[in-house]
Amino acid sequence: MLKRSLSLILIFALTIGLAPRANASAYDAHPKLVVILVIDQFREDYLERYRSDFKPKGFRLFLDHGAYFPDCYYKYSNLLTAPGHSTIGTGAYTDGHGIGSNAWWDLDRNKDRPVTSVEDERYAIVGMPAGSDAGPGRSPRNLLASTVGDELRLDTKGQARVFGVSLKDRAAILPAGAAANGAFWVDEATGRFETSTYYMPQLPDWATAFNSSGRLDQAKQEANQANTTNFENEVGGTSASISYELDFAKALITGEQMGKHDVTDMLTLSISGTDILGHRVGPDADEQRQIVDALDTDLDSFFAWLDKNVEGGLGNVWIAITADHGVAPSPAIAAQLGLNAAQIDTKKLIDELNDAMNQKFSPGEKVVYVLPKQELPYLSLNRPSFERAGINELEAEDAVQDALPGAFQSLTKPGDAKLPAQSKLPPRPVLYRSYTRLQLAGGDLPHTEFGDLLAHSYTTNGGWYVRVVPAAFQMGLMKNNGTTHFTPYSYDRHVPLGFYGAPFATGVYHGRVEPVDLAATFASLLGVNQPSASVGHILTQALKPGSEVTYPKPVPPRGRRGARASARKAATENAPAKKTETPQP
Ligand SMILES: [Zn+2]
Repeated sequence: MLKRSLSLILIFALTIGLAPRANASAYDAHPKLVVILVIDQFREDYLERYRSDFKPKGFRLFLDHGAYFPDCYYKYSNLLTAPGHSTIGTGAYTDGHGIGSNAWWDLDRNKDRPVTSVEDERYAIVGMPAGSDAGPGRSPRNLLASTVGDELRLDTKGQARVFGVSLKDRAAILPAGAAANGAFWVDEATGRFETSTYYMPQLPDWATAFNSSGRLDQAKQEANQANTTNFENEVGGTSASISYELDFAKALITGEQMGKHDVTDMLTLSISGTDILGHRVGPDADEQRQIVDALDTDLDSFFAWLDKNVEGGLGNVWIAITADHGVAPSPAIAAQLGLNAAQIDTKKLIDELNDAMNQKFSPGEKVVYVLPKQELPYLSLNRPSFERAGINELEAEDAVQDALPGAFQSLTKPGDAKLPAQSKLPPRPVLYRSYTRLQLAGGDLPHTEFGDLLAHSYTTNGGWYVRVVPAAFQMGLMKNNGTTHFTPYSYDRHVPLGFYGAPFATGVYHGRVEPVDLAATFASLLGVNQPSASVGHILTQALKPGSEVTYPKPVPPRGRRGARASARKAATENAPAKKTETPQP
């Protein structure tokens, strides 16, 4: 009897259009599209310095028409591209998502070189001509946490379309997540967009068409590199690469009908050109200002394009902007002002450490205890060498840590020749702190914000290791005015955080926030679970009351639905008081 009553209620509900959606979820298919825009190596102060240069709706879409947070700092200490992009997607730091650097030694997988964060020999590259050496496939195999895109996919039973795009593989794959429909990046040598069999067996037709459209040749010509065989180096650091990348994103949005589905779609889009140039010229160079301004112009037209091509226009889109890390001033410029911007010869540091280990554990021999080809801040140890000498992890890491101060002292000012004569101090590499993997794993750290930065950088990738913290403004050897990012210092941690979209109350919000808040806030607004390791806070200070959140009227559905259904849908969507999807403080 009860069953029969329920059936009758269900039939009634279906009749009047109140049937529970097959995909009942807390969100109401708004917005149509979410774009998470990441600018690679983009310190927040660029937006303050160059603000007067900007177009009305490029960066100003966030600064003047959105919710903008000028005081956003990463709360971890390994400020690199792969960890940063993972953090933006997952709302977690390295201790949550597992990605500690761009590459690390994994001796079980490769004894000759570090493996990258996304290479995966179980898959193959898709989209390169037959016979070309495309290297191993790629996947998010090392990402230990879900992303907000993964949660959107779960919540919609796979109906939401989630894609990642960048010139760099890691920056396309990691913020989008393991459940993404696809990720696309360029082959470093040729500049063709490619993907991996992890996602799909062949490129979609629209991507194949883009690769053969002549757009790539146009980008090379714009960069005056028509015949280059190294796209990343020769074209990657120019504004031509940014327009090229954004045109691919448009082809993707069109080809995959993003923003035109019954559920919300999501694109993570990471702009690489700023980083490729920034490493070469530093944050204070005129060339860097020029590429920031060119990006602003491109974003102004990209957002105008979204307005025309997403169902209902830009009012049906949420966009977030942030960066994966900042950057240090070029050592030459910092030294000129009196800062101790010494450069550390990492190869020599490793040689010194190996000499010290041989003296201690295998006198007269040349055993490799500390692995070569490393980038700071992590120094991976060669576990088999220590084990042959009967040394366990605790003893090995302690021994390397003990040898570090002496090794630093023996570095003879390798940057001298490159630094300007007017340096106020003779540059001197300084080891500020070091931590072993076991210290980090056991939380043997100061109970301070600095300790938190280190704790959040813990990873099990890389086996046994010691983590180095040089003094501020110091880094490895750089060519010319080059610079980099990898430290716990504010210049590496400071990035923009801005939002545009219906739920956000326009304003500039001073006060510390973190990039992890992006995924947490979007998850909350979408009514989906927080990503699995999320530690972000919901940015409630920038959210409108739910009743004030409205979306433009969508284009009425054509064809399959009857006129009554269309009218009912339109009436529902134009109702002034939307369901409260915005949690209030
Ligand atoms: Zn980066």
